[in-house]
Amino acid sequence: MPRPAHRLTPQRRAVLEAIQGSHNHPTAAQIYAQVKAQHPRVAFGTVYKALDLLSRTGQILQLEFGDGASRYDGRVDRHDHAICTGCGRLVDLDPQLPKDLAVRASRASGFVINQHMIQFFGLCPDCSQAGVARPA
Ligand SMILES: [Zn+2]
Ligand SMILES: [Zn+2]
Repeated sequence: MPRPAHRLTPQRRAVLEAIQGSHNHPTAAQIYAQVKAQHPRVAFGTVYKALDLLSRTGQILQLEFGDGASRYDGRVDRHDHAICTGCGRLVDLDPQLPKDLAVRASRASGFVINQHMIQFFGLCPDCSQAGVARPA
């Protein structure tokens, strides 16, 4: 039995399971469509509130890529992402980063750095093969 970290309503649980069962970092709209298949009466606002709560309690990650649609991640350990600017595909990456990266960022900025994530933008293998134009 997985230990419930927080009391979850059936709808919140369905939201969490939709994200954890997905490996492509879905958007709120995609999660809503999936939850609605099981809970036909669920409202988008309910799903959205569940996403907000689950990310604030650290059960999921909310990722922003500056394109207006947050993506959600059931993997919450520190990792980085590459996003395809052609099709929006988003994959997990574990590049070997310099161990002192956060220390150097802290020295340069004067900030106390407590987390960091790196986003790589480019074309996925499918899009680069299909010859999708690279942004200038
Ligand atoms: Zn692509
Ligand atoms: Zn991820």
